[in-house]
Amino acid sequence: MTHQDLSGTLYIVSAPSGTGKTSLVNALVRDTNHLKLSISHTTRTARPKEIDGYNYHFISEAKFKQMKMAGVFMESAKVFGNYYGTSQDAVQKMLDEGHDVVLEIDWQGAEQIKERFPEAISIFILPPSIQALKDRLETRGQDSTEVINNRMTKAIAELKHHHKADFLVINDEFEEALKSLKAIVKANRMTTAKQQIINRRLIESLISEA
Ligand code: 5GP
Repeated sequence: MTHQDLSGTLYIVSAPSGTGKTSLVNALVRDTNHLKLSISHTTRTARPKEIDGYNYHFISEAKFKQMKMAGVFMESAKVFGNYYGTSQDAVQKMLDEGHDVVLEIDWQGAEQIKERFPEAISIFILPPSIQALKDRLETRGQDSTEVINNRMTKAIAELKHHHKADFLVINDEFEEALKSLKAIVKANRMTTAKQQIINRRLIESLISEA
């Protein structure tokens, strides 16, 4: 896949754990036509309520390495001791079907995608405060204290990578942050380059009348 093959737009959403990124992205995809979420592969074990093939494709480390060697992933990274990767074919299929695609990935993956596809749009979500981040990680109640403390330290380190993103959204009020994400997608779809594709027939007919 080269950047010329990208008919739709790739959105990259990154954020430290505990910023509410997953809920925001799910709401964005639910409310936006022609926007699909890429389902990553991971070697992490599923949390309670997570469903294989819906939240992630949960696979063994051996399988992950085999897939990586075979060039299946358009980006991959090790995060908190587990491997994560985005399937190139799955993303390409959604783009071919006329959708835009959201990749909810960490900053390492975001950098790999931006390098290969500079026209991808990267969004970084920030928490309104360090305390809010801690509260969210604790109330999630899915991880042990050790895991939470580890994630807190890493989350703070991850925040430093925000400056490379095209857009920054602060998730203080969920609905406001969601509106901001929708505004980014909407504005991108209004660019002349996109409108010339989306409204090609209309524009051609308007010009032919002139
Ligand atoms: P979690 O295990 O909490 O679902 O995710 C941990 C981190 O891995 C999050 O920052 C999430 O965005 C990131 N992540 C999820 N899928 C991928 C992926 O396919 N590639 C990369 N690079 N990071 C991912």
